[in-house]
Amino acid sequence: MAALFTFFFFSIWIALMLYAMTNRTKRKSKENLPYKHIVKNDPYLEVEYVNKHSTNLDDFIINDEINAHDLKKLAALNGIELSINEGWYPLVIELIKELYANGWDKKIYVIKEKYASLRFSTKSEYGSVLDNIITKYEEKSKRICETCGKDGFERISGGWLSVLCRYHYLKCRNVIRITQSGFIYNKKVYNWNEISNIGFDDKKKFLNKREVVLDINFRDSKDYLLISNKDNGFGEFINNLSEPYRTKEVQLLNRYRTVDYCEICGYLAVYDGYCECCENATWENFEKVFKYVADKAEYIYDCQLDWHEDEGELYESERNIYIKNPDYKIYFARKE
Ligand SMILES: [Zn+2]
Ligand SMILES: [Zn+2]
Repeated sequence: MAALFTFFFFSIWIALMLYAMTNRTKRKSKENLPYKHIVKNDPYLEVEYVNKHSTNLDDFIINDEINAHDLKKLAALNGIELSINEGWYPLVIELIKELYANGWDKKIYVIKEKYASLRFSTKSEYGSVLDNIITKYEEKSKRICETCGKDGFERISGGWLSVLCRYHYLKCRNVIRITQSGFIYNKKVYNWNEISNIGFDDKKKFLNKREVVLDINFRDSKDYLLISNKDNGFGEFINNLSEPYRTKEVQLLNRYRTVDYCEICGYLAVYDGYCECCENATWENFEKVFKYVADKAEYIYDCQLDWHEDEGELYESERNIYIKNPDYKIYFARKE
């Protein structure tokens, strides 16, 4: 009898344990719910695209309906990274459509940006039809903003080359404005007497010779500023530095002492033969190197046309950083 009771209670205990265990598993799966919720909201699960269900290159479809998701899928099926920004996606989609129409096998080894140009590599031989198509699109990429896909130009920013429209370039270009007692750099106010010393930032200086970078240190703070000649207002900043801050290194920047109007953009931003605003060399500076290429009128005309296509005037007049020459002349006829 006692054995029967023991068995009865033991069975109940086992049943309770089993119930507790299943409950724990249930609780565990409930804990997983937020994660499942996130996965459900994954944009790639929701959107429709041509190759959503393709599993290999053979069943990957290339037609007029393919979009950015198909492009990402094609890169994934090739086992490569799509190392370009969204502004170039439409260009690369056009490229793969044209390659496919010319017998391409859908194999890609690299899709990336290098030196402000698209790099797209396949098995194609140098000089072949496919190779020529790729070269054509790589050339096109040099004039397309990698961020938004609008017309762009090659720019140097932070020591890196990239193709950007003026709007996206100016978004990453820093601005220095001089005030009565100091300067404002990217909306932060600094006083001259806060500065302890100014020198060249060596690493940057040698990384890119076209870019001069000043390392600015402060008295009461470990913060430092790196200000570059690619920043708008750099020349004026140098001109406003008072004597204590004109260290030996900074004196090397004496070429910033005088400023002239630019014949290309019309702004008071030319220092030592180079315009800080439109970033073109003056004709006199250009002529030293390319004397035999063009005459002055042709050079100014071409640069002004680029400045116009780049919407330079639109953005510079809005930002109001430089003084405009009242006698500025435009050499090309504007489209009415
Ligand atoms: Zn852009
Ligand atoms: Zn200029």
